[in-house]
Amino acid sequence: MPNTMTTTIYAARKIITMNAMQPTATHVAVRDGRVLGVGTLQQLAGWGEHQLDLRFADKVLMPGLIEGHCHLKEGSMWDMPYLGWFDRRDPQGKLWPGLRSMDAVVARLVEIDAQLEAAGRPASEPLIAWGFDPIYFGGERMTVDHLDRACQRRPIVIAHANGHLMNINTAMLRLAEITRDNEVEGVVKFASGEPTGELQEPAAMFLVIRKIGSAGLLAPMDEAGVRSFARLACMQGVTTATDLANKLTEADCAVLETALADDAVSIRLLPAFQAFHGTHGAALGAEHVKQLLARNTDRLRYGLVKLMLDGSIQGFSARLRWPGHFNGAPNGIWVMAPAQYEADFETYHRAGLLIHTHTNGDEASEAAINAINRVLTRAPRPDHRHTLQHGQMIDAPLFARMASLGLCANLFANHLWYWGDQHYEMTMGPDRANRLDACGSALAAGVALAIHSDAPVTPLGPLFTAWCAVNRVTPKGRVLGEAERISVPQALHAITLGAAWTLKLDHEIGSIECGKRADFCVLEDDPLEVDPAALKDLRVWGTVLSGRVFPAQTAAA
Ligand SMILES: [Zn+2]
Repeated sequence: MPNTMTTTIYAARKIITMNAMQPTATHVAVRDGRVLGVGTLQQLAGWGEHQLDLRFADKVLMPGLIEGHCHLKEGSMWDMPYLGWFDRRDPQGKLWPGLRSMDAVVARLVEIDAQLEAAGRPASEPLIAWGFDPIYFGGERMTVDHLDRACQRRPIVIAHANGHLMNINTAMLRLAEITRDNEVEGVVKFASGEPTGELQEPAAMFLVIRKIGSAGLLAPMDEAGVRSFARLACMQGVTTATDLANKLTEADCAVLETALADDAVSIRLLPAFQAFHGTHGAALGAEHVKQLLARNTDRLRYGLVKLMLDGSIQGFSARLRWPGHFNGAPNGIWVMAPAQYEADFETYHRAGLLIHTHTNGDEASEAAINAINRVLTRAPRPDHRHTLQHGQMIDAPLFARMASLGLCANLFANHLWYWGDQHYEMTMGPDRANRLDACGSALAAGVALAIHSDAPVTPLGPLFTAWCAVNRVTPKGRVLGEAERISVPQALHAITLGAAWTLKLDHEIGSIECGKRADFCVLEDDPLEVDPAALKDLRVWGTVLSGRVFPAQTAAA
């Protein structure tokens, strides 16, 4: 009998199918990487010859989890030193303690510089670090003064946790030729007119990137990075993830195609074409993505397009409607002018592609909805699934408009924990912080909902993300907007079928039912039985991807 006809029936303590017509089962039959049937052993035995596999007999199976907004960089950021406020675990399972003051950050940089020095690395080689999150330091902004204290010879580049900002020292200002005369938007200056070393959003950050080239930050993804990402994903029960901004050069595609041709790499990826900075026009971009469609495989799916309107709320670069920032900070930055956005959106939309738009502030979300409304009036397209990503400040009236336009929302629920207190105290104020990432309002309006981590902005982990949406608690113990909480089953839907819907893959993944890919998240605990406050602590055994079993590689001893 040919191998493809082999049938394996897995027994489980419980199978949570996410198929409303058959919510639970004890057995699932897999053939040729797909689900052949779901039910009891007796029902499935009707398919004929099979192997009964008992390895999951005491485990709980769910559909493989789907991360609809993250970046492959989560795998390779760890090649660089981490400077974040929160403790964080790297792909090898090592815990990096958070840095709780500006002085601690500077001290860590001094240490790293000394290590580079001791390793004989030339002083011209930049020190690049990531994960910096100054909003925790009481509003104090980092400037060249801090970084020059860390090192004056070696250029230093610090990427903020939000991915939208960067700080550099005087040596790097010199190398990047940034002076008081520089007029690129996002180059922050002292009252004296001299640059502070803070660079906001892609155009300003590019002044540095073009000089440090492929070193570290924004370096092209390599195969090791993809493998490392897949390991992290497996530890979190994730079988499908996006890389939600990839230039998709021939080299980028080659890396993805080589890595994903290896059956040992445990992830299905959807890279989204980065259509907002350094690209050569929407018509060319659309043609490029359409041509890539022919290269799709089970585990690599081209066809998504990423557009971006504004910046980040905690970086004060998001575009907000009246009354703006609670602490009086000026309004943020248009990464793309709304008129340009509308024109480019129309080009990609008419090409039949699925567009995901970054909108953090409510002015940006409203601008996107207005633009898409006009485009859809000129060029209607049924079932487009265009999605607003982050959409953190979207309120009920905007959700109602999204529902009427068929727009989906992928909300940044992890923000509730990571920056919830800052939004309450500094950026938004209490009332608007209470409607941050308003999952309850989205569902009430009938908007298709996914939730995300935006890893590496926050760590990859859909069960943690679900916990955020269900509990809405902050590190200081606040509950942000009790009425916006969603139930555990609604949150589990958002990280399976909900995310699959926004990727137009709900016919293939997101539930365990006949005909779908055999993608499972294998759990030690039952998410429907534990206390909702413990959702983030569920133990993940590993995954099954298109029928192949992957135990999570947890920290080596
Ligand atoms: Zn992102």
